[in-house]
Parts: sequence; C-alpha cells; structure tokens
Amino acid sequence: EIKMPEEAEKALNILKSCGHEAYVVGGCVRDAILGSVPSDWDITTSALPEEISSCFKNYRTINTGLKHGTVTVIINKMHLEITTYRIDGKYSDNRRPDEVTFTDKVSMDLKRRDFTMNSLAYNKEGIVDLFGGIEDIKNKIVKCVGVPDERFQEDGLRILRAMRFAAVLGFNVEEDTRKSIHKNKNLLQNISFERINNEFMKLLNGIKCSEILSEYKDVVEVFIPEISELRDELWTERLNSASLVDNIIIKLSLLFYGMDAELILRRMKSDNDTIKKVKLLTLNMDGEIVPEIPAIKRWLNKMGYDNMKLLIHLKDASLKYPEAEKKYLRKAEELMDTIVRQNQCYSLNTLEVKGTDLIAAGIPKGPGVGKLLDEMIEKVMDDELENKKDVLLGYVNNKKL
Ligand code: ATP
Ligand code: MG
Repeated sequence: EIKMPEEAEKALNILKSCGHEAYVVGGCVRDAILGSVPSDWDITTSALPEEISSCFKNYRTINTGLKHGTVTVIINKMHLEITTYRIDGKYSDNRRPDEVTFTDKVSMDLKRRDFTMNSLAYNKEGIVDLFGGIEDIKNKIVKCVGVPDERFQEDGLRILRAMRFAAVLGFNVEEDTRKSIHKNKNLLQNISFERINNEFMKLLNGIKCSEILSEYKDVVEVFIPEISELRDELWTERLNSASLVDNIIIKLSLLFYGMDAELILRRMKSDNDTIKKVKLLTLNMDGEIVPEIPAIKRWLNKMGYDNMKLLIHLKDASLKYPEAEKKYLRKAEELMDTIVRQNQCYSLNTLEVKGTDLIAAGIPKGPGVGKLLDEMIEKVMDDELENKKDVLLGYVNNKKL
C-alpha cells in the first residue's frame, strides 16, 4: 500500500529482528498516502534509545536527542530518525518536548501527535490508524487528535501548524478544531518567535495561504499586531496578490508595506538578508520609476540590479498601482537590462576610474575624492561625460585648473 525506500524498510527489519516493534510514522505516511514524495522517513519504535543504538552497531548513528529518545541512523547516506514510543510533556522547541516518558505502546505514541493525518504508523504488517487519519486525508481535513482545546493548551504552536497544514496541503480545518483555534489563539503568545516564524514561512508558501490567513486574521494578529490596523478587505487584498508570487521577499513586502516591516520581521527572528531586502523594497515601493535611461541608472545606483528587479516585480504584483502604470514597468525593465548588458556606467563599480586614479592624478586624499567620483557618475549617467578612463582623467585635470 505504501511504498517506502529500501533504507527505511531495512531499518524496520533490523529493529524487528532485534525483537522490537517499529513503524514509519507521521508526515512521511501522510505524504505517501497523498501521493507526494516524503522529504524524510521518521521511524517510531518500542526499542529504548540504547537498544536502538545496539541494533545499529554496524551503522553510523548520531545521538540526535537521547533524552527525547531519538537516534539518527545513516543507511546508504539516508538519515533516518528513529524515536522510542513516548508520551510527551510540554513542547518548547519545534520537534522535542521538554520532558518525555517512554512507553511500549504504539497507541500512546500516536495519541500524543497533533493531527489525525499525522498520527498514522505503517509497516509491512499494516497501517495503524487509531484516529481516522486515512479518512481525514481522503476528505482533506485537518483535525486534532483528541480534544482540540486540550491539545492546543499543551502546545500553542499546534494552532499555527493546523493553519500551515491546511494552507500547504489545501485542506479544510474540521469545525471543532477551527473554533478551538480562534478561541485559543492567545496561546501563541507563549510560543517562541523562532517556532512561529518557521511555521509562518511554510504557511506563506502554501497554495491556500491567502484563504487561511484571511480566515484566521485574528490569529495572525496575536504575533503580528500591526495588521490589526488593516481592514479585513485590505488584508485579504494583500494576501491575494501575495499568493500570486513565488518569491518570499516579494510576498512579505506585499503583506507589510506601509507598516514597520523591519520591526515585524526582526521580532519574528527572520534572517538579516530577508529583513534588509524587505525593508529596502517597502521603503522604495512608492518611488516613481520613470522609464528613461538616466532615471533608471539612478535607480540602479541606489538599489543594485537584483533588488531593482525585485522592486519592479513587487510593483507589478501589487494591486495598489493602476494597470496603466505597469506598462512603464516593462519598459523600465528593458532599459535596465540594456544598461547592464551594455556595461553602461551607473555606479562606482562601473565607473572607469577609481579613487586611486584620482589621487595619482593629483587630487588630494580625503572627502574630495569621493565627491568628485559621485559628480562624474552623475555626469556619465546623464551622458554628459563619456565613461572612458582618458576622458574622465581629462575632466579631473580640468577641475584642477
Ligand atoms: P513536514 O516535515 O512536511 O513539515 P511533518 O508532519 O513531518 O511535516 P514535523 O514537524 O516534521 O512535521 O513533525 C513530524 C511528526 O511529529 C508530525 O507528523 C507529528 O506526528 C509529530 N509532531 C510534530 N510537531 C508536533 C507537535 N507540536 N505536537 C504534536 N505532534 C507533533
Ligand atoms: Mg517532517
């Protein structure tokens, strides 16, 4: 029924021949049933961590989280996380609860899992489906294992995980789970921004991201209070444009322009490169792009080529600007490509003289050098000066007189 890679099968066989129960479990079973290729195959077993290690003496193993019962075994370069059946305490990080109790019953291990679709275990003897997970996958339903209020209180991140799975898999959220999400949304205040960010970024790439984030705007407001300033229709409008682009920088810019995007993303613990780009784009989004060579060169000088591409893409994707204006963007993009292809000068890097050339030509070291370089870049961009070393040095020599 489920086709697993031979490495996973081998691991299950080894555990079995050592006298233990073992299954592939969680996301991989769900994805296999959905017909997509699982990114990794997790294994759950009755074997205690030391027993796992001793079963795999002939393989390379990594003690990923002995305390939590996880040993990673490497078979033919494939990393398999093998975890002892357990009952969880509270979760503080993404994958591992603070304290765990091992158990020898697979049913207990499945019960601690978040959603019915994630609570399936499979081996050659069959599939263990205690909570109707197969049915829910067929019906495309995200549903808590057990009582939603209780499960969200154990770990508030599950609220966002429910939304993430719905968005990424295109599932609907079961009614009791849905109500409980709204009711318990403030539990997300107890969750670290690292964990929130991880789920939120995955959610943003989901096919149903715009529907889910519209419906659960109140939940998003718990960790991004800034969006409460936006009327619901405006938030939905932004989500609709964001869902039409792939680039995460543009998505984030479309969602957060006009707000302090830098503050939002810093709080969310986004990486510095993302923060820097989204800030630059949102701050320059309303700048007019006149499709004429000197103006485009100035934009290139300010933003750099790659960011300029992003800015044009962003303006294009935003519903904020009239369609008529977007024709100019095509023209601007063409000009920009021509400028770069023809190696035309638009920045210090592309000017044919450097500071050292000016100093060699007798300009005294100091701020005057930079000023003169900027002046020459301006003239070159306006086509008043040719970007050739002898011409530029001629200009310098004239200055000196
Ligand atoms: P993907 O890796 O595609 O994001 P996944 O289902 O594998 O999806 P993981 O975060 O890798 O998700 O977790 C693996 C499994 O561990 C889940 O399928 C689920 O059974 C269980 N799990 C993960 N996080 C939680 C949680 N916060 N509460 C309960 N169970 C969880
Ligand atoms: Mg996973």
